[in-house]
Amino acid sequence: TQLQLAQAQRMEALGQLAGGIAHDFNNVLQAVIGSAGLLERQAGGNDGVRQLARMLTQAAERGAAITRRLLAFARRSDLRAEPVDAAGLLSNMRELLAHTLGGGVEVRVDASPRLPPLLADKGQLETVLVNLATNARDAMEGTGTLTLAADIEVVPQGERRGGVALPAGRYLRLAVADTGSGMDSATLERATEPFFTTKPVGQGTGLGLSMAKGFAEQSGGALRVESRPAQGTTISLWFPLADEHRGAVPAPVASLLGPPS
Ligand code: ADP
Repeated sequence: TQLQLAQAQRMEALGQLAGGIAHDFNNVLQAVIGSAGLLERQAGGNDGVRQLARMLTQAAERGAAITRRLLAFARRSDLRAEPVDAAGLLSNMRELLAHTLGGGVEVRVDASPRLPPLLADKGQLETVLVNLATNARDAMEGTGTLTLAADIEVVPQGERRGGVALPAGRYLRLAVADTGSGMDSATLERATEPFFTTKPVGQGTGLGLSMAKGFAEQSGGALRVESRPAQGTTISLWFPLADEHRGAVPAPVASLLGPPS
């Protein structure tokens, strides 16, 4: 619709703006990191100065990490949509996560091996799933169950998913569910806002969920957060099916597919 188009253009402009700022800001931070390193080396026997220089370096490096994530978020036109086998992707994820999440977290995959391929940028999708799994681990504080699920959902005409009115049809739904702390209603309401975080400074950037939502919507899908305090959180992502592309995918993805047949 007209409104969605205007929204997509606004997001595109915002992405470009954010990318430009992130890039310039990163240059400033690199100058700070360079000078702080110099200061540290010239501090000689002055431990106080050396310690302050260290702190300066660490703070600037945290800033640089944020700008890198912001750049990745803004680099929306780099997305390359391709058919992705969801069941294969999730079982690879399980292996990867079993090693990185720690022994107390059980990782389960719930997906039929005969699901049709979804359409999205595979590398970006993997990054998003790792971010969601990291949030889940933080919420479970080391023990619990992480379930990665995939199924087909038929979205009827006029229904919304995560606030987005998807074109009617079949979608592949991925879900990342944890048995962690969940979110109170105030957190749930703001969870997908860029830079919203409840984590201590240095641990959270507040970009994970907003990036994931932006990615799902740019892929022609949607993202929904469901959460209950003390019970857990489920993040669902809808993606178009590769075989049923109906020309409804927003510009960067659609341009790679050619005109709808
Ligand atoms: P970050 O993880 O850097 O804080 P996100 O955008 O990924 O940024 O998440 C924003 C906030 O949403 C988190 O700080 C946390 O309060 C909440 N949140 C996200 N995922 C979960 C989860 N799986 N369980 C509980 N709370 C979550």
